[in-house]
Amino acid sequence: MSAEEALAESSSRVQAREVRYCEICTFPYEYCEYGSSLTKCKANLEAKNPRLYSALYSEEALTDKLKSLTTEQLESLERDSAKRERKAQAKAEKERAQLAHPGIDEIHIQGDVVDEVKNLLLQHAKPFEKMPSESEGGISEKNVVIDDKAAK
Ligand SMILES: [Zn+2]
Repeated sequence: MSAEEALAESSSRVQAREVRYCEICTFPYEYCEYGSSLTKCKANLEAKNPRLYSALYSEEALTDKLKSLTTEQLESLERDSAKRERKAQAKAEKERAQLAHPGIDEIHIQGDVVDEVKNLLLQHAKPFEKMPSESEGGISEKNVVIDDKAAK
């Protein structure tokens, strides 16, 4: 067997094995739609392998695909909405908890009247009379931070 014959035979063997990778996008033909050149892929396959083309892209194949996609999409939609519902519930719970205990971390005040403001805050004097008391998660002396940067 000459080298040329061997080459011819090996290449015909490759064809016989039907390596079904797309020359355009290098994905298997079934996955061309995930590539970026589906139009070119389809034209290439249609010219090269009309049988495979119609198996993949015939109306029948597309209908089957659509059916299975729809089922998958429905399932994922259901999963998503269940997830959203859980998130919304968690959020509502958190908001309820925050309403019960506002949990103020720190109040920063600054300016010429910081001491007065601080006293008003701690005494819940006007205009702070609506603020929750310390036992309800409102502010206490340690929460009030006086920013005196501006004064310096
Ligand atoms: Zn392709």
